[in-house]
Amino acid sequence: MTDHRRSIPRTDTLLADPRLVEARRRFGHAQVKAVIVEVQQRARDGDLSPEDVLTAVLAALPASAAGLRPVINATGVLLHTNLGRAPLSAAARQAVDLAAGVTDVELDLDTGDRGRRGRTALAALAAAVPAAEAVHVVNNNAAALVLAATALAAGGEIVISRGELIEIGDGFRLPDLLVSTGARLREVGMTNRTALADYADAIGPRTGMVLKVHPSNYRIEGFTADVPVARLSELCRERGIPLVADAGSGLLTPEPLLPREPDVTSWLTEGADLVTTSGDKLLGGPQCGLMFGRTDLVDRLRRHPLARALRVDKITLAALEATVAGPPTPTWESLHADQATLRSRAENLAARLRDKGVDAEAVDSRSVVGGGGAPGVSLPSAAVALDRRTAAALRRADPPVLARVEDGRCLLDLRVVPAEHDDTLLAGVLATLPGGSRLPAAGQVQKDVQAARPAGSRRR
Ligand SMILES: *Cc1c(COP(=O)(O)O)cnc(C)c1O
Repeated sequence: MTDHRRSIPRTDTLLADPRLVEARRRFGHAQVKAVIVEVQQRARDGDLSPEDVLTAVLAALPASAAGLRPVINATGVLLHTNLGRAPLSAAARQAVDLAAGVTDVELDLDTGDRGRRGRTALAALAAAVPAAEAVHVVNNNAAALVLAATALAAGGEIVISRGELIEIGDGFRLPDLLVSTGARLREVGMTNRTALADYADAIGPRTGMVLKVHPSNYRIEGFTADVPVARLSELCRERGIPLVADAGSGLLTPEPLLPREPDVTSWLTEGADLVTTSGDKLLGGPQCGLMFGRTDLVDRLRRHPLARALRVDKITLAALEATVAGPPTPTWESLHADQATLRSRAENLAARLRDKGVDAEAVDSRSVVGGGGAPGVSLPSAAVALDRRTAAALRRADPPVLARVEDGRCLLDLRVVPAEHDDTLLAGVLATLPGGSRLPAAGQVQKDVQAARPAGSRRR
């Protein structure tokens, strides 16, 4: 063994360092040891000098015990599927933290008896949608549709318009999902036009439900017609068939900024028997599927054996309740952000970057809802425009910043970036410079990151 190798700190010595004792408490012994072994090997290979081993171990520790990393969404896409759709509000995060321990999720503390699971979350949803007789929560909107199709139409038929046979993303298609329950699809109308008579002709003794789906991620223009919920519900009532309506985007009440997006309250008022929607789109909450509607139908669904396989955990229920009953969500704030304010933030950031010698300019921009919502709608926004090559470096910054490349420039769209993250964004851009000059990290993401790891560490 060479002297060089002999002076590499031993595993026991490293593990005893107070900073690594702390790291073991946070990440577990095995993870810390694996990092040590890896770094020692680098030193043995001569890639690292022995005196730098401890520093390198600290730097190589992960940001948290889980592999997910907080990132800044500067894409201008409100609900970015690859970034986990809606970020939770501070209230919802706090609720998650509390619910993560032992809670009374299914216990009535007054009587000591078993209570209705998630009753306070269900009560918050009922209060938010008085038009609903009853409410049920499952894992996501796809699960809500599977549950409805299984309980109401398995072995029978689902009547649905050809214009509403959508693919929801990542290759998953609604028709396949529905058919997987054992129901058959009775497709009616044409891709561009479906009339009430098409539904009337198709409903028969085998019909288990009529399904209306909001084509949330595409729009057909031109010679088109579809049947509104109000007219379809009259027909369904006459024939005694439940009308299930998939609103998709999670609006509980009308949103004036998105006049073409349906909402749960309006569809129930128009006579839908059951309305399903996602929790992590425009509602701004955790991933879940919400079902609102007639008590007899909701009871049938929640008593169905499959309901148990689709039920949500206490953490989701807590986040959902805090989202529905709590302060405006980050998604709501992003949707309603004022363009003039975004523009002045962009100008301020661009000026501060130019002071540091970065070629930056404030520009007007357009944001979109994304996540399969409000196709064709864009919201006036503002961005900091940088050299297009900055985008890749920013993705590898700490915390990572996701920008948008448009017209040969890298745009940092501010609509979805909370104002308190501007300093972190600035630090991220400066860190991509050749010199790697860094401002003191002051933004909240940075604080979140720092709070979760030992001082001086870097991402792995
Ligand atoms: C997003 C969406 C779905 C799928 O919802 P998940 O919550 O992702 O399962 C289904 N239908 C419509 C209309 C949607 O917009």
